[in-house]
Amino acid sequence: AKVGGRAQTRFFDATMTRDLVRRREIEGELRQAIQRDELSIFFQPIVDLETGRIRCFEALVRWFHPEKGELRPDEFIPVAEESGVIVTLGNWITAQAARTAAQWPEDVTVAVNLSPLQIKAPGAALGILNALREAGLPPSRLELEVTESLFLDDSDATSVFIEELSAKGVRFALDDFGTGYSSLGYINKYPFRKIKVDRSFVSGKDVGRKSEAIIRAVAEMGSTLEMDIVAEGLETIEQVQAVRDAGCTLGQGYYFSRAVPDYLAAMLLSQERDP
Ligand code: C2E
Ligand code: CA
Ligand code: CA
Ligand code: CA
Repeated sequence: AKVGGRAQTRFFDATMTRDLVRRREIEGELRQAIQRDELSIFFQPIVDLETGRIRCFEALVRWFHPEKGELRPDEFIPVAEESGVIVTLGNWITAQAARTAAQWPEDVTVAVNLSPLQIKAPGAALGILNALREAGLPPSRLELEVTESLFLDDSDATSVFIEELSAKGVRFALDDFGTGYSSLGYINKYPFRKIKVDRSFVSGKDVGRKSEAIIRAVAEMGSTLEMDIVAEGLETIEQVQAVRDAGCTLGQGYYFSRAVPDYLAAMLLSQERDP
């Protein structure tokens, strides 16, 4: 029982069944979570490495489940993507994030993560513009973070979406750069304002002379093309100094702050403006 044997044992594997059951549960409950007010958006500062000031907050969704406790997005975003719930969920996240950001000083932007499925849904660009209008947030204060996986099937829908919103002033950031299907072609084709270098280049086992040289090269390109280069996952002062020396303009990570609820984000802003 060699051929196909592995698939069969895996199918009956207890942990896998448990995972499947949990996914089903999550899928069903996710649809109700918004109405039940179990989801909330947390905000993590993105800091200017020259001045130390907050330039942006990334909106990160949190789910406080009545029985399961706090669920990480890595646990339910993939389920939301597979089941299509991400479109409803994503609209809600964008609307909430825009409403919160409308309360901040005018030079602070908000970054929202977008799943490929959201972008391909009909009327996606219009939905985002409507959310901005309802919140009273100028399009130039919204940044949409997309990953390279979006470009795998390089469809017309993607370019129409990006071009339509860019024309209105919405900014785009290329997220998790260096982890996937990195191609300079995407940077050449689309008007990214920001590139976020993945945390794996900053901390972890693969960090060394090579990763440093890569960050340096990306930062060099960023300065020529007038794009911000963000280093993600900064946890120590040494990491902050290293990426700043390498030419990154912005930084994000636990060294500065974890993602915090909206009232704490507002407090961080007022502290730095009115010390
Ligand atoms: P991401 O877009 O790469 O977001 C950054 C993740 O890194 C966040 O995890 C953040 O809490 C974490 N992080 C930030 N600083 C540090 C650090 O210094 N050290 C370490 N170890 N981690 C740090 P989070 O909030 O669990 O989000 C995980 C992923 O879930 C995100 O990765 C993003 O891909 C997805 N996600 C989160 N919120 C949303 C959302 O609203 N919509 C969509 N479509 N995806 C989302
Ligand atoms: Ca992100
Ligand atoms: Ca990222
Ligand atoms: Ca990520």
